[in-house]
Amino acid sequence: MKFLFLLLGLALGYRPTAQATPIVRVELRVEPTTRAFTCRYVFTLPTTDTASVLQLNLNKRFRVENLRGGAGLVRRGRVYYPNFQNTLQQLTVRYPTPRRQARQISFTYSGTLDAGRAKAQVLEFSAHSGWLPFRPTGEYELLDYALAVRVPAGYQVRSTTPARRARAGRYQFGGRTSATELTAIIAPQFAQVTARSGPVLTVVKAGAALTPLETAILPKAQEIIAFYNRTLGRQDSITRFTVFLTGTRQDAFGLLDNATVITYRPDFDVAQRGDLLILAHEISHKWWGYGSVHDQSDWLNEAFATYSSLLYLQASGDTTGYRQVYTKLDQTTPNTPPITGFDRSKYEPGMYRRVIYNKGMAVLAALHRRVGTTPFYAILATTAARKVSTTTTFLDVVGQMVGADTRAWLLAELSR
Ligand SMILES: [Zn+2]
Repeated sequence: MKFLFLLLGLALGYRPTAQATPIVRVELRVEPTTRAFTCRYVFTLPTTDTASVLQLNLNKRFRVENLRGGAGLVRRGRVYYPNFQNTLQQLTVRYPTPRRQARQISFTYSGTLDAGRAKAQVLEFSAHSGWLPFRPTGEYELLDYALAVRVPAGYQVRSTTPARRARAGRYQFGGRTSATELTAIIAPQFAQVTARSGPVLTVVKAGAALTPLETAILPKAQEIIAFYNRTLGRQDSITRFTVFLTGTRQDAFGLLDNATVITYRPDFDVAQRGDLLILAHEISHKWWGYGSVHDQSDWLNEAFATYSSLLYLQASGDTTGYRQVYTKLDQTTPNTPPITGFDRSKYEPGMYRRVIYNKGMAVLAALHRRVGTTPFYAILATTAARKVSTTTTFLDVVGQMVGADTRAWLLAELSR
């Protein structure tokens, strides 16, 4: 629905946001028994983008064919990508000037889904499966997408939006999300529970039936979303949300497109404080996902999500839990480098969490204490609605809403 509207909008020359986004068409074909897949990928730059070079990074194990772009000026190479600590293949297209046609790159690639992202007959093509190309440092670049998925008879597909079409093993989804977050969960069957009131909230499990522990996620997610919608998300509230349970036993991650994927062990239990905090943290990434993950700006994602989950815990009445967790995280922050200018490559891996998650959380808590709860939630709500992606923009929001003194104070906190 959203995508149809968008297409209409484009046809009428209307842009949903001032900054035009690239358009991506993805056609995924999957053979679940072998985890083999083939993907047709078409990336089109927005007309406002004047770049003469387009680069896409992709898993080096994938076989790329039928590569076309620009005036055929295509180069393939390899590049070391620090964020993945891995080498990727890189496709480069140069566009001649003046340009006469849409700047586009298209190709087909095939590979095998990582075994860690599959279980029994379940396949998880998700933000953590590494199955999609992206522009260098653009894993989370916003794109308008159309995703078509083909599966053999006996399999179904779910994504973060309802299928626009689902017939005879062919599924079509569309919307706007970040480059690596297009999602296709594939399984012979799905079980789900849906909230009866409030936002359209569904817990979807790849499998036959939800266990009592899995069913218990629904009311907790409802509570969390209701709290966020009243507070930090009130200018851009959640009306639809999906919690995916894939059983692939890896991790949990939030998606910009109103969904979270929880792949943990089957005993993931939101009656336990730690697991409840994970759920609350991941749901809040619906708002906290616009800072770059390649530099200090990641605190805008991770510190904000961490503090959001703690605010929920406190609001739910677990003030003891709030204090315990806050203290535990805060205790890791003395003698750490400043958030401003933090360069993870200069420190051992654990420092990232201490600075970007924990120290950032403590800075937000200090800002909260300084300005009071009502102004603090107003700051968070504005930051979320504006999709703030840099620390300077966040400082400006703070300055506009509570004054230059607090802006200066916050800058000093981030720099010490
Ligand atoms: Zn996070």
